[in-house]
Amino acid sequence: MIEKIVNPKELREWEGRIELYWVYTSGKAGDEFFKKLKEGKFIAARCRKCGRTYFPPRIYCEFDFSDTEFVEISGEGCVRAFTVARLDVYEKPMENPEIYAIIDMDGTDGCLIHLLGEVDPEDVEVGMKVKPVLKPKNEREGAITDILYFKPV
Ligand SMILES: [Zn+2]
Repeated sequence: MIEKIVNPKELREWEGRIELYWVYTSGKAGDEFFKKLKEGKFIAARCRKCGRTYFPPRIYCEFDFSDTEFVEISGEGCVRAFTVARLDVYEKPMENPEIYAIIDMDGTDGCLIHLLGEVDPEDVEVGMKVKPVLKPKNEREGAITDILYFKPV
């Protein structure tokens, strides 16, 4: 749906399915992040004034409004918190439970929420060191789904 109604008399009803399309722009910093991710690299953005390091990267510091510069980071991090999903959306037990974690990214003041893999839910601990597992290079699209999951280091 690419339609902008400015005259209220043009408002109408739809019957049946409404096709919806949208364009989401990730912005300058997000675009750079996804380009690097496609190459298998991770970047953050460091404030030139106060040194705060943003992940995901941003183009300016929200504390002092100074410019930031992109810095490469390892992509590794530590589990800050996690939860284990044992039921699917229909509340049926899943054969393989999914582990969702908040991961504090090394060398940054930021974090990422993502799946953990190659680890038993009972073995996950807060503070556990993890590293990303990416799709094979020829399958990457420059999207967050290029990261399959994080696994213990
Ligand atoms: Zn700053």
